Amino acid sequence: ENRISHAIKLPRYARINTLLVKESIADIADIRTALGLPEDLIFEMDPHVNDLIVFPAGTELHTHPSVINGKLILQDKASCFSAFVLQGERGFDDHGDVIDACAAPGNKTSHAAMLVARKQSSRPIKVFAFDRSATRLDLLKRRMVSAGADKIVEPCLQSFLDIDVNDPKYQNVSAILLDPSCSGSGMSNRLDHLLELASMKQGFEDPSEHDEQDSSSNEVQARLQSLADFQLEALKKAFTFPNVNRIAYSTCSIFEKENEEVVIAALRASEEAGTPFHLVKALPTWPRRGIVIDGLSNDQADYLVRANGLEDGTNGFFVAYFERSNNLKRKRE
Ligand code: SAM
Repeated sequence: ENRISHAIKLPRYARINTLLVKESIADIADIRTALGLPEDLIFEMDPHVNDLIVFPAGTELHTHPSVINGKLILQDKASCFSAFVLQGERGFDDHGDVIDACAAPGNKTSHAAMLVARKQSSRPIKVFAFDRSATRLDLLKRRMVSAGADKIVEPCLQSFLDIDVNDPKYQNVSAILLDPSCSGSGMSNRLDHLLELASMKQGFEDPSEHDEQDSSSNEVQARLQSLADFQLEALKKAFTFPNVNRIAYSTCSIFEKENEEVVIAALRASEEAGTPFHLVKALPTWPRRGIVIDGLSNDQADYLVRANGLEDGTNGFFVAYFERSNNLKRKRE
C-alpha cells in the first residue's frame, strides 16, 4: 500500500474563490499577495481550468488562512471540470438557475455558484443543491457559508429523482450538474479500488483462488451495475426538466460502464422520449478524450473528457456535456 500511495503523488490544486477574492487578478504576484501565499512557494495557473492554482505535490495548505477563510478551495483539478464545463462557451449567460443534483459535500456547488455570480442579472440566480444524505448536506451548508455561497445556494434534502419537474420553483432552471454516486474507482486515495482493478486486469492466474475471486468479482459487477442503473436514471430525469438546455454529467470512475455506456443509453433514451439532447465537445483543449465503444462514434467519443489519475496528474474522472437539441430554435422563438 505504501508503495502505491507513494507512486500516486498528485500536484496540489486549489481554486481561487472569486466570491471572496476579486476576480480580475491574473498576475501571479498579485495572486500571491491577495491570498497571502509565501514568497518561496512556487505555483502556476492551470492551463485548462480558469482560477485554478497548481502547487507542487505535497504542498500542505489545509491550515493556510486563505483556505480557512474560504478564499482558496482545495479541489482536485478534474473535479473542477464539471462546473467549468457546465457554463458552456459563453459562461452562464442565459441567467438561468442551476440544479446540482447530487451535490454534497459541495465543492462543485460552490464552483457553480461562483461562476453564475459573475453574470450580471436582473434577478438573483439560484443554485439548488440536492442531496438525500442529511449529514452530507449539513457539511455542504457549512462549506457554502465558508465559501460565501450561502446566499446563492439553496440546499435541498431530497432525492433528485423525486423532484416534480413541473414545480414552478424550477421553471428558470436552465442547467443541471449531475455528479452522481459512483464507484470512486478514479480516486487516487481509494487504494482498494485500484487494487481491485489491478486484480481484475491481471486476470485470475492462480487456479486455487478461482472460486473466491469469481464471487468477489461478481459482487463488484453487481455493485457497478446498480450504480450504472442509478446514474442512467438520474441522467434521464435531468433530460425531463422543461427548460433545461445544458447538462454536465461527471463521475470519478474510470469504468466504461459508469461513463461511456451511461452516455450511450441516455442519448438513446432522450431520443425515444422526444426530449433530444446531444453531446457537445467539453474542454476542447484537454487531450484525453472518451473511449470509443459500440454505440459511440469517434466524434462522440472525442466530445467526452476523461482524466487518468496516473498520467494526467489528477484523479481519474469523466465528463460528458449535453445540450438540448432544439436549443437554438427555442432561443429564436
Ligand atoms: N458533487 C459532489 C461534490 O463535488 O462535492 C460529490 C457528490 S458524490 C459523488 C454523490 C452524492 O450523491 C452523495 O453525496 C450522495 O449522498 C448523493 N446521492 C445519492 N443518491 C442521490 C439521490 N437520489 N438524490 C440526490 N443525491 C443523491
